[in-house]
This record gives sequence, structure tokens and C-alpha cells, in this order.
Amino acid sequence: MTDFHDSEGHRAGQDFDGLKALVTGGASGIGRAAAGLLAARGARVAVLDLDPSSVDEPLTGHRADVTDDASVRAAVAAAVADLGGLDILVNNAGIGARGTVEDNDDAEWHRVLDVNLLGVVRTTRAALPHLRESAHAAVVNTCSVAAAAGLPQRALYSASKGAVLALTLAMAADHVGEGIRVNCVNPGTVDTPWVGRLLDAAPDPAAERAALEARQPTGRLVTAAEAAGAIAYLASPLSGSTTGTVLAVDGGMQGLRPRPA
Ligand code: NAD
Repeated sequence: MTDFHDSEGHRAGQDFDGLKALVTGGASGIGRAAAGLLAARGARVAVLDLDPSSVDEPLTGHRADVTDDASVRAAVAAAVADLGGLDILVNNAGIGARGTVEDNDDAEWHRVLDVNLLGVVRTTRAALPHLRESAHAAVVNTCSVAAAAGLPQRALYSASKGAVLALTLAMAADHVGEGIRVNCVNPGTVDTPWVGRLLDAAPDPAAERAALEARQPTGRLVTAAEAAGAIAYLASPLSGSTTGTVLAVDGGMQGLRPRPA
């Protein structure tokens, strides 16, 4: 069979050949799927995670906590040394929070913002000097449908992701002149270990799952592979003219109004 090449000479399925990527929170769920997909499509991939012990060859794992600036700097430096440079940063590490604005105290607000918002800031700050050296620099932030649609019982989480969405647009403006693209994905509910934990904690996991599925017009949860596909598109040279955008991967939650019956 003849290999298919696109108009720029990339071999089919290997559009990340020669590119180096770092994925935070890449040991589980969406980040794991994204790291695997980039590697399958030809990238060299490093993962930064609280617990990278499950990261397998050819990916490399780097232990760091995105709330700790020194550990982020050390892990980014080690990953860049391993990879031989950096073209793609996927800021994906994040944690959830439930409740209305009355339900979480200041300490909880600081804890979640420290991971979901400042974690993105710290990793990006450490990565930018390396991204400036790349001819295909791209940052992709994992945001959430919660940033753009009013979801009940998600005040703190939504605020943290809304801040990441605004930060994405601001960073896109700040770094477009340096050839660095910045975009984000807004997943709906994605079938990951995180959602598994949420369901396990519910009084009736089956009913909770059905409610989450019904919230998305497609009637099912998003798969981690689908969220990873959107991340890969925004990281790929194929989206080279796309910066400062939000790509929804939410089963139509945001876009379909009024919702089809
Ligand atoms: P997950 O819990 O399966 O994976 C998250 C990963 O991030 C884990 O490997 C964890 O160790 C790592 N991590 C957490 N805190 C960290 C820290 N302080 N430092 C370094 N690593 C840390 O979760 P997931 O569902 O894959 O979610 C990934 C991202 O997607 C998060 O930013 C989340 O907000 C976002 N998201 C998830 C969903 C969903 O329904 N699953 C929907 C929208 C957005």
C-alpha cells in the first residue's frame, strides 16, 4: 500500500513527527489519552503528574505538583532535556469541586484555584522560554463546558475554568507575535477515572450516570479519546492558523439551543 502524504508532505497519521510535547496530568483520563494519541501520531511525549508511575515507554514520566513552582520548574527542565526541546504544552492537570458559592470556604477556593488556574500559569511560565525556540509552538489548555455554561453546584469549579478560558485568550494575544498559538478545549462530562470516582460517591451511581448522560444532547458521555482528539487538533500544525479559540467537546451541551427533545 502506498503511504498517503498531505499537501505539506506529512505521512498520514504521523503529523507530529519530530515534535516534542509535554502533557500535565497525563497519567490519567483525558491527559493520558492525549499523551498516547500525540505519541501514536509521531510526537516525543513527556508527562508531568503527581503520580507518573503508570506512564509507560516510549513516554517519560516526571513527578511534579503544579501547585509547587519549584517542582514544576524542575520537571519542565527535566522533560525538555529528555525530549530535546519543546513544541507543545498541554495544560491538563486539574481537580473538581462541588457546591454553590456558599458551600466552599476560602481555603477550598484557594486550593482549587491553585491547581486549576495557577497550575496553568506555573507550567506555562516554565515552558515559554523553550516554546519560543520552536517553529510549531502550541499551548492547549483543558478547560470545561463549566467555563461557558451555567452548571448547578459547580460555582468554584466553573470560576476556576472560566479563569483558564480568559487566560487562554489573553495568552494567545500576548504570544501570537512570538509564533506561539494558545487555544483551549471545553469538554462536557468525559468518561474518565475522575467521573468514575464521582459516580462511586453518588447515592445511586446508575441514576447519576444516566443524569450526566441526559445532560448532553448526544445522550452519552464524551470519551477520553474524543477529548484527546480535540487537544491533538489544536496542538497539530494542521491548526497552524488557529489561536485564541475554544473548541467544545461536549456532546452539543453548549451549542444546541434550544436543546432538541
Ligand atoms: P483525572 O482525575 O482522570 O486525571 C487528572 C490527572 O491530573 C491525574 O493523573 C492527577 O494525578 C493529575 N493531577 C491532579 N492534580 C495535580 C497536581 N496538583 N499536579 C500535577 N498533576 C495533578 O481527570 P480527567 O477527568 O482526565 O480531567 C483532566 C482535566 O480535564 C482536568 O483539568 C479537568 O478539569 C478537565 N475536565 C474533565 C472533565 C470530565 O468530565 N472528566 C470535563 C471537563 C474538563
